[in-house]
Amino acid sequence: MTDKSRGFDTLQIHGGAAPDPATGARQTPIYQSTAFVFRDAEHAAALFNLQEIGFIYSRLTNPTVSALADRINALEGGAGTICCSSGHAAQIMALFPLMGPGCNIVASTRLYGGTVTQFSQTIKRFGWSCTFVDFDDLAALEGAVDENTRAIFCESIANPGGYITDLDAVADVAKKVGLPLIVDNTSATPYLCRPIEHGATLVVNSTTKYLTGNGTVTGGAITDSGKFDWSASGKFPSLSEPEPAYHGLAFHLALGPMAFTFHSIAVGLRDLGMTMNPQGAHYTLLGIETLSLRMDKHVANARKVAEWLENDDRIDFVTYAGLPSSPYYDRVERICPKGAGALFTFGVKGGYDACVKLIDSVELFSHVANLGDARSLIIHSASTTHRQLSPEQQEAAGAAPNVVRVSIGIEDPDDIIADLDQALAKATA
Ligand SMILES: *Cc1c(COP(=O)(O)O)cnc(C)c1O
Repeated sequence: MTDKSRGFDTLQIHGGAAPDPATGARQTPIYQSTAFVFRDAEHAAALFNLQEIGFIYSRLTNPTVSALADRINALEGGAGTICCSSGHAAQIMALFPLMGPGCNIVASTRLYGGTVTQFSQTIKRFGWSCTFVDFDDLAALEGAVDENTRAIFCESIANPGGYITDLDAVADVAKKVGLPLIVDNTSATPYLCRPIEHGATLVVNSTTKYLTGNGTVTGGAITDSGKFDWSASGKFPSLSEPEPAYHGLAFHLALGPMAFTFHSIAVGLRDLGMTMNPQGAHYTLLGIETLSLRMDKHVANARKVAEWLENDDRIDFVTYAGLPSSPYYDRVERICPKGAGALFTFGVKGGYDACVKLIDSVELFSHVANLGDARSLIIHSASTTHRQLSPEQQEAAGAAPNVVRVSIGIEDPDDIIADLDQALAKATA
């Protein structure tokens, strides 16, 4: 039986992992080794020529990390997956083979706050730039693309409001302009949304969040659909032309649908060094085994909490796309049929001051800059994660001063609601 014929619940436990061939260990061992011994000189040469797959040095590949990469690949339905040190590293690693100085990307305004900063500020140091547009305005999206654009980037369930991107429509635009679509699937996970089935070229995940699910380690993954023709436009010379950084190998010609994956290992991880360590991969392998169970509970709890908030007088609005009142409600069934996730925002009557008081009054919720933990988390984006942004950018990103973001955990939903109730009483007294 191949991985492709197995169901999600099976793949989240067995994908990428078999009993250890050396010892029979049932759980994937932590291969805490920097280097791996070559059988002989010929074996070493074959590995370096990418003629044979194997382990050389853990900056490039490691058996524990590879088991996780293969599991995520099975869950996302990709051609190949590379793990790296964090979700932010995954974003740079996804762009690295596509970009050069003077190139740009077009990204949604609705993004994780750190991604807005990475794309609006930090990537400028590489000579890259980003244009942000509202991805509900497909004409604006297409209009923002120019001859130097190399990718279109959005989140499936987008921060901070849990807004659902119409991936099919965005993928149609990407196809029309001949560019790869990169989807950050962190807030949805492959259990709720499979971006490749909606036309994504590359999927990035911060494994730090739901995939690990217990708030212990940072990590990232890039999954390639294997479906983009890197040679068609001449815009992606690192993949279509002889790569001077890898003794002139033309990756797309030599490796076909695995071109991006191998380039990301042989050049990306080798030279950027944003490597996931085997200990980190181990924690994520443990967490990912229960992904579907946790996500079902996250979604059920989020729905209950969002419904309760929507009916509360102290609240101005709730953005949860799983509520029938949401303008994005009709996208849930098409884009993330198992539920709208567990990340959303709500507006508190009383504005900035009431939000800050609310945050200081919660007892069960943790006030952290994180999401996708088993624990319920809360943050006031305007004073923290989205603090770097201008008031206009905050508004556009759904992080205005009166807005609080929650990531609903898998505790007893009555306890989550009771905590918000007592904190709102203090905040609006
Ligand atoms: C957390 C997060 C990231 C960044 O991931 P790290 O692992 O913290 O680097 C990127 N995108 C989204 C949607 C996130 O939630």
